[in-house]
Amino acid sequence: MTTTDQTRLHVLFDAQYKASRAQIEVPLAQRQSRLLTMKALLDDHGTALAQAVQKDFGMRSLQLTEIADLFVLRTLLSHTLKSLPKWIKPQKVSTPLYLQPASAYLQRQPLGVVGVVSPWNYPVQLALGPVITALAAGNRVMLKPSELTPHTSALMAELIGKAFAPDELCVVLGDGELAAEFSSLPFDHLFFTGSTAVGRIVAKAAAANLTPTTLELGGKSPCIIDASCDLDAAAIKIAHGKLLNAGQTCIAPDYVLLPKGKEAAFGHAYAQAVAKLFPTIAGNPDYAAIISPRHHERLQAMLAAAEAGGAKLQVINTGGNASEHRQMLPVLAFDVPASAQLMQEEIFGPILPVLPYASLTEAIDYINARPRPLALYWFGTNTAARDTVLAHTVSGGVTVNDTLMHIAHENLPFGGIGASGWGSYHGEAGFLRLTMQKPVLVQSKWARGDLFYPPYGKRFDQVMGLLKRWL
Ligand code: NAD
Repeated sequence: MTTTDQTRLHVLFDAQYKASRAQIEVPLAQRQSRLLTMKALLDDHGTALAQAVQKDFGMRSLQLTEIADLFVLRTLLSHTLKSLPKWIKPQKVSTPLYLQPASAYLQRQPLGVVGVVSPWNYPVQLALGPVITALAAGNRVMLKPSELTPHTSALMAELIGKAFAPDELCVVLGDGELAAEFSSLPFDHLFFTGSTAVGRIVAKAAAANLTPTTLELGGKSPCIIDASCDLDAAAIKIAHGKLLNAGQTCIAPDYVLLPKGKEAAFGHAYAQAVAKLFPTIAGNPDYAAIISPRHHERLQAMLAAAEAGGAKLQVINTGGNASEHRQMLPVLAFDVPASAQLMQEEIFGPILPVLPYASLTEAIDYINARPRPLALYWFGTNTAARDTVLAHTVSGGVTVNDTLMHIAHENLPFGGIGASGWGSYHGEAGFLRLTMQKPVLVQSKWARGDLFYPPYGKRFDQVMGLLKRWL
């Protein structure tokens, strides 16, 4: 990071901070206009953004970015624009008898300046989603996108630079060093999406300023196959959730838990499902490349170590040379030693360990012995077994009989718990996360608060006696 970068960062923050304090009230029309500017930006430059993502990955279809980045943002914008007039209204709350006839409400106000730090895997959605939410809540926003998608990040910076005033929304580009400096700015809220390891650093940096954070992190999301499950129907949904973006998805199933004895049948069903989704892999842009040589090597090393430790690998769709395009073939891993890196860290690639369980309790205990996951998937028709799993596990979110889909529901808050993050967004939950709900009590001229004033005597005792009987 050069001194110029550092100076620019602070100049931008100071401008945003001043602007946020100079205009505390941000009317509906101004918020709508900012959202419409963002909508126009996506409408006019969506294809260019998808092409930039393709360039950054080397191999990733434009359609994948269309569905997983642009479509998600369009639905977020449309839902937010529709709901905003209702969301920004003061919310009346009921007043308890002992305070009546006062009235009370929650006044929804912008927090001020929100910082957004985003990752590379869905580089448009995960950068602009929190930005849209923060703008809807009336905030000023500074975005620091990932350095691993340089074309996409530069294009977002250029487009946003043309469409927004820098004290309204701006983008700063840079690596981890700049990101660390960014996270140490005294934002009114810092919204971070990325790894659990970096999330810990960000939380510490923000704590020094008492800046509240939202941490959207990763982890190992389990996928439970119940004995009542139709394996073929489940396999295609698991393969889709696992192999979208070649497993580089925060809520991809990280491993499968299935009844002992079903391993071979699942292996067969999964291979067939993969063949249906991706008739070829090498050179097929529907099957994304691994983001960088370093990430590709990490995955290959994890796999080799697991195999050396006794894991049995089922590699799928081996035609062609996937590595030539930095792609990685889908792999099922059986009998993986518990100590293998594959079972210790988030995989974030197309490798799927399969773990047999003897009883449902064993599967639940396995999940509960580990950090709370970002997502959990359950497949089957036995609703009693499903409810047992849901009642005895805690995760950021759940999809039953599919993968990923809970993230797409605009009325379901999205976020993690514990090591998979804290705070959630999407829909009204996101708007409220980046809004101050200021409690206001309006006293009535008929109020008898004086009944509680000193000097305390007989009248006070009578009132307290009455209240004790009511409560
Ligand atoms: P990462 O943590 O390496 O980087 C994310 C961002 O943090 C980047 O912009 C990077 O520049 C910045 N950064 C790096 N060092 C920093 C520091 N010291 N201080 C502040 N910021 C710093 O994550 P990644 O590799 O880009 O993304 C993959 C991870 O993100 C996976 O763990 C995945 O599960 C997670 N993820 C979570 C969600 C979610 O919604 N929960 C979504 C996508 C990805």
